[in-house]
Amino acid sequence: MKITRIEVFQVDLPLHEGSYKWSGGKSITVFDSTVVCVHTDSGVKGYGEVCPLGPFYLPAYAGGCRAGIAELGPHLIGEDPLQLERLNRRMDAALKGHPYVKSAIDIACWDILGQTAGLPVCVLLGGRYADDFVLYRAISQESPEAMAGRVAGYRAEGYRRFQLKVGGDPDVDIERIRAVAEKLQPGDKLVADANTGWLMHEAVRVVRAVHDIDVYIEQPCLSYSECLAVRNRTTHPFILDESVDGMEALLLAKSDLAADIVNIKISKLGGLTKARQARDLCVSMGIAMTIEDSWGGDITTAAISHLAHSTPTEFLFSSTDFNSYVTVSTAEGAPHRVDGRMAASTDPGLGIRPIAGALGKPVLAVS
Ligand code: MG
Repeated sequence: MKITRIEVFQVDLPLHEGSYKWSGGKSITVFDSTVVCVHTDSGVKGYGEVCPLGPFYLPAYAGGCRAGIAELGPHLIGEDPLQLERLNRRMDAALKGHPYVKSAIDIACWDILGQTAGLPVCVLLGGRYADDFVLYRAISQESPEAMAGRVAGYRAEGYRRFQLKVGGDPDVDIERIRAVAEKLQPGDKLVADANTGWLMHEAVRVVRAVHDIDVYIEQPCLSYSECLAVRNRTTHPFILDESVDGMEALLLAKSDLAADIVNIKISKLGGLTKARQARDLCVSMGIAMTIEDSWGGDITTAAISHLAHSTPTEFLFSSTDFNSYVTVSTAEGAPHRVDGRMAASTDPGLGIRPIAGALGKPVLAVS
């Protein structure tokens, strides 16, 4: 099989809650998402999506997805989309770095592989564990009272894992953690995600001030070494996210015992091929994971669901249903939350069928 054409679509994804806010005053009202369609000489088409969390979160931005695919795409025409490790080596040889640019193309080729094999992507990624898997709900940064006020509504939607966006003024963050913790019920889990927002002295003050609360601490500081310094001064379970960008970071984290959980974001690693490699390494090393991405709509959520559902249940701390946060649907057949949980499609490939009107005309085509 050969890749004959790559089409790129731009989709705006507004938020049901109007905005999403996290550390350092960062905020998004409309996500700028990129959907990729990979065409083949067999007539099978695959879809992928990449959606950075704005240009100021990871080293990725929406326009960069499209510019990168314009650069990379011509090198992939004529390549076999079924030979995914080989295709990834081709992408890495043609464009150094820029993993997020490659992510949607890689996901689309997994969709093609699944459709061709007649198997859902989760089966090809290792197998389907249990009937469904657990989701977290991010709580956008607001006042402590407002954040605590969100918990009951999210629990009514079935969520039992709450990821608080902190990383602001440490004194207010201490109040945020305390206010939300008071709303928890047995079985709930609370994560305080600073998204790199604290300096070390701020992070150490926060973890000391909430030492009596059952809360996970996620990526308190910008760099790995800063996070490790905080990790070594707290007894809270500890999560690394932004600083986990590949296998070397995972091996270092294991060597230093720097994290109890890591977050595997598909586009940060460069697609499902590399995210699966990271996932399998974590399983081998005994590290639990949240399986997710930076953001996205129906197609990203489908890709996340296949990687999450093929992760051994005891290793999956949580996953996410980004498509429930946004007002626009781009594909039929995408997974949807049921009582705080989700399942990957049992149809071949990603199991999604894009809604033509939602994608519009391609903004770029390479053939
Ligand atoms: Mg995080």
